[in-house]
Amino acid sequence: MTEPVLTTSPPETGPVLLEARGLTKHFVLHRARRAARAARRTATVKGQSGPTGPPAVHAVEDVSLALSRSGITAVVGESGSGKSTLARMLARLIIPTAGQLLLDGKEVPASNRDRREYARDVQLVLQDPFSSLNPIHDVRYHLARPLLVHGLAKRGAGLDEAIKGLLERVSLTPADQFLGKYPHELSGGQRQRVAIARSLAVTPRVLLADEPVSMLDVSIRLGILNLLGDLRERDGLAILYITHDIASARYLADEIIVMYAGQVVESGPAQSVTDEPSHPYTQLLLSAAPDPDRAEPPSLQGRGSPPSLVSPPSGCRFHPRCPHAMAVCAQRTPPGTQVASGHLSACWLHVKGLDTEQALPIAGRPPGRPSAPSRSAPDPGEET
Ligand code: SF4
Repeated sequence: MTEPVLTTSPPETGPVLLEARGLTKHFVLHRARRAARAARRTATVKGQSGPTGPPAVHAVEDVSLALSRSGITAVVGESGSGKSTLARMLARLIIPTAGQLLLDGKEVPASNRDRREYARDVQLVLQDPFSSLNPIHDVRYHLARPLLVHGLAKRGAGLDEAIKGLLERVSLTPADQFLGKYPHELSGGQRQRVAIARSLAVTPRVLLADEPVSMLDVSIRLGILNLLGDLRERDGLAILYITHDIASARYLADEIIVMYAGQVVESGPAQSVTDEPSHPYTQLLLSAAPDPDRAEPPSLQGRGSPPSLVSPPSGCRFHPRCPHAMAVCAQRTPPGTQVASGHLSACWLHVKGLDTEQALPIAGRPPGRPSAPSRSAPDPGEET
């Protein structure tokens, strides 16, 4: 495991409900495990030293975060950055390789014991409302099931009232009109509202929303984002909003955590991270976000593509793409450095005291702190 990267300070919105400390997930490649075992056996026969362990996908490395009551934390990054794996570990659908989960300050066991109880507090909303609802069941069935399974309602008039209450909470009104509808009879936005209502059925305190608007038309994204904002204000939910769209993260969240190749590279208050991004990767994300006020297309130096997570780059994982990479970047993982109040960046550009050799540019690229894009993030409704 690499050295700790960053820890976000909890937002000042309420007590911390769910906390992750150093969460790590490595997925072992099973076919490669057999090959590694065979290579070890061969090496033993020959009296040589073989490979030490099977190769693994280093999906998430040492991520810490805290979700507070009435707070929204956004996790931003491109595909393959480990955002969804992180959400699934927080939902206990995936058992972490290392790290701790704490609910109300008490450690949650790594095994699946007491998972039903945990699910009443922590619910996950998936990206694709088309596949998260069963096409052969109507809305009434989808909302009745969690109420019955968790013993929160009994069949009869009370159950129907509870279901209608859930539909009203997600603004699907008049509720009677939606009860008998099947998923194919609903729009994408309505389906996602039903999926959110299903999560709310067990009165959770933490909602993990994994790209809840990315499959929806641009015109209805804002409605779902506003619904999440209402839920935090009205019900005091702690929300983790996972997205690849940094503009919508700024719109909705109090805190932003930027992930790259399984690691946190920057974190802090949403406005500070988007107005003064200090990590070159965050700057790259912002420069790629559409901006109607920008006359010239952005210059995406070092755009490249994400690295393999089976054998990730040494040192800073962004160094093969970074236009500011220095010698030290390829050798050592950058520590989290405070660049503003509550705003941390894992980049050697912000570490004082590097010697001349360490600060030598890679591939002739001059080191130096890149300037932040001088603009605010655009409206999330404009993201495509
Ligand atoms: Fe990583 Fe170095 Fe670029 Fe900072 S300057 S992002 S540490 S490669």
